[in-house]
Amino acid sequence: MSSLLIQNVRLDDRITSIAIRGNRIDAIGDIPADQTFDQTLDGTGLLACPPFYNTHTHAAMTLLRGMADKLQLFDWLNNHIWPAEATLTPELIHWGTKLACLEMIKSGTVFLNDMYFRPVVNARACDEMGMRAAVGMQYLDINEQVKAANEQDTRDLLAARDSFSDRIQFTLAPHAVYTVSEPAFREVAERSVAEGYRIHLHLAETQQEVDDCRRLHHGLTPTQYLDSLGVLTDQTIAAHAIHLTDQDIDTLAQRGVWLSHNACSNFKLNSGSFRFRDTLAHGCRITIGTDGCASNDSLSMFDDMKTAVFNARHQANDPTAAGAADVLTCATANGAAAFGIDAGVIEPGRLADIMLINTRTPQMLAEHDWKANLVYACDSACVHTLICDGRILMLNRHVPAEDDILDHVQVLLHNWRRP
Ligand SMILES: [Zn+2]
Repeated sequence: MSSLLIQNVRLDDRITSIAIRGNRIDAIGDIPADQTFDQTLDGTGLLACPPFYNTHTHAAMTLLRGMADKLQLFDWLNNHIWPAEATLTPELIHWGTKLACLEMIKSGTVFLNDMYFRPVVNARACDEMGMRAAVGMQYLDINEQVKAANEQDTRDLLAARDSFSDRIQFTLAPHAVYTVSEPAFREVAERSVAEGYRIHLHLAETQQEVDDCRRLHHGLTPTQYLDSLGVLTDQTIAAHAIHLTDQDIDTLAQRGVWLSHNACSNFKLNSGSFRFRDTLAHGCRITIGTDGCASNDSLSMFDDMKTAVFNARHQANDPTAAGAADVLTCATANGAAAFGIDAGVIEPGRLADIMLINTRTPQMLAEHDWKANLVYACDSACVHTLICDGRILMLNRHVPAEDDILDHVQVLLHNWRRP
């Protein structure tokens, strides 16, 4: 069993030591001098805090970053993003996912909830990078060809499932009400109960989605429609969840659905404004996601946390609608809990997921409120070291695979034949 000792590190308001054995935090406080460790880190000038859990993304979209600015969502999807995605090879998707993992590690994220084509390739990339991931078995049945491709992807993923570490889990990922049929949603609901999979979907991202859903499904909103099919449970992660009625919010709270708030994406695509204060007040469980790189375009949770607070205050027209501590909990403890990961809080017995923040930076030097500094001022450059499952993924901003990933992706992008 590997072991790691972090000494002289700031944790909340004290300077202490954190001992890690295997993949769990063994002890916090004075560690007896006779205990030995494989590795010791000097935590002087560093703050230990939980890392980020990104609950909605499409990782390989790093390859599409910056493409097709200034368009309506359906124009953006139908005429630009989907045609480009149709030309992605498994090799491109693998390295695009690795590029996403690199960016996430460098910005303090240890977990991603991914929904993309070729999930077996994505899962392999995340596993090789040492991250935690939930990888979706996609349900899109807009036509027979797409449906068959998704079914093949799922067979490939399930055939390989035993080859992944236990950091990798699988979800059922019905894309959205406008791309997935009623029978497919019913199958998802049944499989989730019978086989224990979590469900990952997009919910009420645009007003058009709501209007179309009402027209096609007897006046039901997407939330009401999905609830009628049994899709909304405490195992469901609903991304965006912007255009909600008060009744929708009540339903989502009662069912224990986890909402993934994607503030930057919502603003970039002008999809709408998430009702942070209202959903929180009604007992909804909120997490934070970045969405894919084509609609953000950053995978840094710092951007989404800060934007989430500002969005909440603007949406409610009230500066008390959300604070740094609220959003930080969403990005850490809630994100981990949504996926059954025993982390998101630094205490003995928990899984050893730890982010070390450099306090010798302009953003962190004033120590009035480290959570406010983290949410409002910090960026990726403040993340010094990242530990996931007891393993160091980045040490003093060095990720071992960085140059290899950048070199590979550069060549692949150069040779990519896209529309
Ligand atoms: Zn999405």
